[in-house]
Amino acid sequence: MSTRLHAVQSDITPLHVGAVVNAANSSLLGGGGVDGAIHRAAGPELVHECRLLGGCKTGDAKLTQAYRLHADYIIHTVGPVWRGGDHGEPELLAACYRRCMALAEEKSVTSIAFPSISTGIYGYPLALAAQVAVRTVRESLPPQTSIAEVVFCCFSPADLLQYEAVLNAPSA
Ligand code: ADP
Repeated sequence: MSTRLHAVQSDITPLHVGAVVNAANSSLLGGGGVDGAIHRAAGPELVHECRLLGGCKTGDAKLTQAYRLHADYIIHTVGPVWRGGDHGEPELLAACYRRCMALAEEKSVTSIAFPSISTGIYGYPLALAAQVAVRTVRESLPPQTSIAEVVFCCFSPADLLQYEAVLNAPSA
């Protein structure tokens, strides 16, 4: 079975998927942007579980229950802050996607939704981030994957256009 990769324009918090990815900060205790929205929607139990995790390094990811979200799990990952592109940002961003896919696979998740990690407060240019996202997800899919669907959840219409361009490009 081949995995379907597609982009939608939506708030990520109401999506019905096996795993929702959160673009968190290294404290894992909540923040602005998508992180704040996920914590608000999931409810206060989420931060209690996150407190037990001891934070998360940039490029790594940690899994929690999803509480009030319509998902089985939340995978919290910490993207790189954009500092011009020559400070390991592409490798760290790719590591985020790889780790999230590995954790989802470990839990036999069938669908996963990603926000556009690092492209908000952390300043990673959307067009470059979309290429890393799509390429790394494709590379991370093992032949016998449980993951049937990967959703790139775009917050704005402009972001959606960028993701669709990358998804439809012959060699993303
Ligand atoms: P980072 O600190 O990793 O840059 P942000 O949350 O600031 O994280 O932004 C990451 C991406 O998530 C941006 O593209 C932003 O527009 C988007 N975003 C913000 N809120 C939501 C939401 N509720 N659902 C989906 N995407 C969101």
